[in-house]
Amino acid sequence: MLPEFRNEPFTNFSLPENQAAFRAALTIVKAQLGRTYPLVINGQRIELDKVSESINPARPKEVIGYFAEGDVKSVDQAVAAAAEAFKTWQYVPAEERARYLLRAAAEIRRRKHEFSAVMVLEVGKSWFEADADTAEAIDFLEYYARQMMRIADSSNQLTSYPPEHLALQYIPLGVGAVIPPWNFPCAIPAGLVAAAIVAGNTVVFKPASQSMLCGYIVAEAFWDAGLPPGVLNFVTGPGEVLGARMVEHPKTRFIGFTGSKEVGIEIFNKASVVQPGQIWLKRTILEMGGKDAVLVDETANLEAAAQGIVSGAFGFQGQKCSAGSRAIIVNDVYDHVAGRIVELAKELSIGPTDETNEMDMGPVVDKDAMRKIMDYIEIGTQEGQLLLGGQRLETPEGGYFIPPTIFGDVPGDARIAQEEIFGPVLTLIRARDFDDALAIANSTEYGLTGSLFSQNGARLEQARREFHVGNLYLNRKSTGALVGVHPFGGFNMSGTDSKTGGPDYLLLYTQAKSIAEKL
Ligand code: NDP
Repeated sequence: MLPEFRNEPFTNFSLPENQAAFRAALTIVKAQLGRTYPLVINGQRIELDKVSESINPARPKEVIGYFAEGDVKSVDQAVAAAAEAFKTWQYVPAEERARYLLRAAAEIRRRKHEFSAVMVLEVGKSWFEADADTAEAIDFLEYYARQMMRIADSSNQLTSYPPEHLALQYIPLGVGAVIPPWNFPCAIPAGLVAAAIVAGNTVVFKPASQSMLCGYIVAEAFWDAGLPPGVLNFVTGPGEVLGARMVEHPKTRFIGFTGSKEVGIEIFNKASVVQPGQIWLKRTILEMGGKDAVLVDETANLEAAAQGIVSGAFGFQGQKCSAGSRAIIVNDVYDHVAGRIVELAKELSIGPTDETNEMDMGPVVDKDAMRKIMDYIEIGTQEGQLLLGGQRLETPEGGYFIPPTIFGDVPGDARIAQEEIFGPVLTLIRARDFDDALAIANSTEYGLTGSLFSQNGARLEQARREFHVGNLYLNRKSTGALVGVHPFGGFNMSGTDSKTGGPDYLLLYTQAKSIAEKL
């Protein structure tokens, strides 16, 4: 019997031995930078002449790795391998499939700091953020392994009907396309892949182009766990080519995607078109962007609110779907809270994150992200009052650093109050009162996370009813969902509300078969 699920503890970096262990892992990873990585299809490593680079956003000249640049043919090969492997993998008992996840989890735990070190170098996470990402990857594997064992046979939920012998089995769907983003570059791919394969499906996995090494080491943990060839196939290359083909392929049965609203909508549309030879309607599990709000009323613990806002807005440079990028504060306490937010944000340190555990913020992920964020900052100067930041931080090595940037007195319908910026830009909005604040919070097309800081019980109740978000947090920040504790996923243009890390998630990767035998 398995021990009960427990979240993987975070590393305490105030202990010198943990700092030393993390530095040692960084040294190991740095010694391996610049290697070339293949596609892996049906267990075969496929090298290609054409490669694309993954770079360190803190030092863009530093190449993390070269990755084979696949094309439509590579996808077709990978889907064919996955379809072949599905013929047998679907019948492997759920408990055995779950054991592969547990072995992969043990492998990631063993190399924990190496996983985190890759994230520090490839996407610019701080030690703390990287460590939390690795812990979440382990959690997904441990949690879904247990959930699969629980749901494998749900016959005991049926009403008895003698003399029939009844069964309700959750069987897999088929070949899945797994298309994750770069911002939780280990946890999200680990979760998407684990859910798909533990449910008995086979997978073609294409990591985001900014985090291909993270994707590779996640896949490697599964392969090292002894997964049969063809169950997990790994391809790299541009999303608009490979991802699009993965979505459109007639043998693809489902798509597990996390990323932007724009790409999510495109996938939703494309997946709805029945291709020649396709004999099912594709299932889409699409988790998308957010414009998450943190509300503060006049009864709130204002210091806790200011701290929660700053940490939720600027953790990992604001590049989280759950980042509280709008702080909506009632007029009575607006000036005080805004002042405190600016003071706290000024204290955040920013720079390359590989030298010390004390760096709060690293670079944004790439040049395109930097341009987009700087464009929004330009728009912000027309729409609100710049209270902090607003300029790039130039470094000798040309890293993509943008310090915490805060705009005050922004109207609720301004672009920087409505559109996902996905960077360290916080918009402060002055509300007349609590009802006004709630209306502003609900006024975007998104509905992912939301926080309310208030000591007023009636308002907390009202928020439970009316604050339309998939993850509502009362008197705490909007980020930091834990597997099994805070099932995660949003409403409206934030996605299909799949609730990753929740008790129902795996059902999305299955179809139920009801069997009755008259005895
Ligand atoms: P993108 O949508 O740009 O990319 C996501 C993935 O889609 C990448 O692997 C990308 O590949 C691929 N892709 C790109 N174009 C296509 C296409 N035409 N067809 C199929 N696949 C394609 O998102 P980001 O990677 O920039 O991630 C950030 C976004 O993710 C933010 O909007 C954030 O809010 C959201 N997110 C949502 C979460 C949630 O749970 N709701 C959690 C985490 C992030 P390539 O990189 O090669 O282009």
